[in-house]
Amino acid sequence: MNRRDYYEILGVGRNASDKDIKSSYRRLAMEFHPDRNPSPEAEEKFKEASEAYEVLSDANKRAIYDRAGHDGLRNTGFSGFSGVGVDDIFSSFGDIFGDLFGFSGAGRTRRGGPARGSDLRYDMTIDFKAAVFGLEKDVELDQLLRCEDCHGSGAEPGSQVVRCATCQGRGQVMHGSGLFLISTTCPECQGQGMRQSSPCKHCRGDGRAVGKRSVSVKIPAGFEDGMSLRYAGQGEPGPRGGPPGDLYIAVRIRPHKTLKREGEHLITEVKIDMVQAALGDTLTVEGVDGDEEVKIPAGCQPNEVVILRKKGVPHLRGSGRGDLHVICRVEIPKSLSSTQKDLLLEFAGRSNSDAKKKKKKRHGLFS
Ligand SMILES: [Zn+2]
Ligand SMILES: [Zn+2]
Repeated sequence: MNRRDYYEILGVGRNASDKDIKSSYRRLAMEFHPDRNPSPEAEEKFKEASEAYEVLSDANKRAIYDRAGHDGLRNTGFSGFSGVGVDDIFSSFGDIFGDLFGFSGAGRTRRGGPARGSDLRYDMTIDFKAAVFGLEKDVELDQLLRCEDCHGSGAEPGSQVVRCATCQGRGQVMHGSGLFLISTTCPECQGQGMRQSSPCKHCRGDGRAVGKRSVSVKIPAGFEDGMSLRYAGQGEPGPRGGPPGDLYIAVRIRPHKTLKREGEHLITEVKIDMVQAALGDTLTVEGVDGDEEVKIPAGCQPNEVVILRKKGVPHLRGSGRGDLHVICRVEIPKSLSSTQKDLLLEFAGRSNSDAKKKKKKRHGLFS
């Protein structure tokens, strides 16, 4: 088949800017759009211009076309708009027609073209340490998948895409009479304007069927509770070969028995008695790398924090790690034996007299 040059169709030069191409296409679309110009020739012209626009407005396709012409594009699987309804053109260039004809987004969707598939959300809960160090996990999703029998087209293999007879391909049917005409979505083709001469038996023409799919989820180290991952184009496929939605993996993190997260830092607590606080001690606490030794300094004050550097959470972006903060909770005894009381009193007496002596001295010194 001898096909016309795309630049010629749009009436622009080979060096035309994207803006020129868009405005030229807009002009042709105004002239030949089937809503304005219902002749079959106009529809052909409209499709031709739309095909040319699809190629020349896409830098990638344009480069291929410039280099290797129509044949080059065919090798990439591009088949133009042949066999596809006007409604599909609408969904492809909705943004242009939006301001051209004043269609609402909802109207365009109803007019058809394969709709985009839904976004999917998958909730997963991971262990505290898995969030700290990252995790790779395969998850099984039950979802709509592209029908293997018809490869998502919805057509029984060997069947044809035909123009809907009920609406003559317009996707809309008119009701009423005289001045009061109401246009509604064609019930036969659900607004597609096209239908399969025989729909796929497996998916009943939808192009999708429920199946299982395994997705490899990679959670980076330092991931935080409530964050989610987005996998573009991994959601539900659209009906009849429409583009897929996105997949969101929403991640919750199981709390840890003793550790808490504060951004890149981990927080834990140790209980020490007043003797340990006064004299200092060495204890172990549970960290994310295993047990950690904590040196309680002599004279440790209640709620004093001992910091273990680089024992916290790896940074989500970049390298390095936060710290592990150990909060020292000093426990004061609530009941004492009489011996303990005597010892404490003796301690208090001595330190009191020491303090008095010092005070006296100081008093003496400065007065
Ligand atoms: Zn099918
Ligand atoms: Zn119809």
